[in-house]
Amino acid sequence: MTAAARVVTTALLIGIANHAIGAATGLHALRYVMGTWCDLVVLNSSPNAEAVEASFQEIARLERVMSNWDAASEVSALNARAGNGPQPVSTDLAAVVREATDLCSLTAGAFDPTVGSAVHAWGFDTESPRKPTSERARQAASPVGCDRIRVQTEPPAIALERGTRIDLGGIGKGYAVDRALAVLRAHGVTRAKLDFGSSSLGFVGQIDGGWPVVVADPRNRDRPLVSFRVSEGSVSTSGQREHSFIRNGQRYGHIFDPRTGLPVQSRLLLVTVIAPDAGLADGLSTALFVMGSTEGARLVSTLPDTAAIFVEERAGHDVTIVTAGRVDDLTRLDR
Ligand code: ADP
Ligand code: MG
Repeated sequence: MTAAARVVTTALLIGIANHAIGAATGLHALRYVMGTWCDLVVLNSSPNAEAVEASFQEIARLERVMSNWDAASEVSALNARAGNGPQPVSTDLAAVVREATDLCSLTAGAFDPTVGSAVHAWGFDTESPRKPTSERARQAASPVGCDRIRVQTEPPAIALERGTRIDLGGIGKGYAVDRALAVLRAHGVTRAKLDFGSSSLGFVGQIDGGWPVVVADPRNRDRPLVSFRVSEGSVSTSGQREHSFIRNGQRYGHIFDPRTGLPVQSRLLLVTVIAPDAGLADGLSTALFVMGSTEGARLVSTLPDTAAIFVEERAGHDVTIVTAGRVDDLTRLDR
């Protein structure tokens, strides 16, 4: 596809989207939260500013629970008490950690929130990641494993083995989207779209023809790569490119293989997942990135109402796209 044709296709998509969205009056709000832009569109006949504010407040509240960038967050305090037996935690922290450990079982350990020690050793919880010494990397890989976490819900408590560090970066945004959508619904919102830094998207209700989703090329975010439609559920995209650094010609990114405790090395540019809820979509997109397209597609085919798009980089600038499950109106926009 020529550049001009691509622009037309993209404009068409936006046109369709505006046509569908234009059927109702709406509210559009943008807020910087959890280190990224959160874009919310409410399409109710009487959109409610209070609902929008309450959903952003919910995300900000959860950031103080789950952030591993903030030494004062609840999860940071829990990590500091690793090795000291069960610690009382909030209902949210117990719930999200339980969701994370369930995903660890579902993905045979490809998703593992205890990669925190490795993520920390490589500085991916800071603005300046760097390669640690091999000795430091080896040490940081040893306290990784979901059997090192025990979660109890009544009353909520979590025990971590010594040295283990929980990192909710792979699921936190999805969990926050699910909670923010619940707040919108509780305020009577019947149609809305919440886009969290383009990596986690959730919807309330449906629009004619399905919600249009465009995934950008991580090598150049101004270039749309694929588009598709979702009738309901959530969408999450994971990739290394935007959170990576190059050292001696080798690229290292923020998604770790829990089996080695090292950044995943692969030809995958991104994995997009469509799943019934945003926590699952978020965790699964991280896990499928670790698993790769063959093993990942096999897992997706066993999960109800779940689909995935794997985009692999080929020689030159070309890509190969592999899908698993049902993706409506999947269109390549890069040619
Ligand atoms: P993003 O946060 O950019 O949307 P992801 O959802 O894929 O991307 O999450 C990546 C983050 O997840 C990393 O920054 C790290 O905090 C955490 N993480 C890295 N590897 C894993 C893994 N194998 N399992 C669970 N969490 C991981
Ligand atoms: Mg994720």
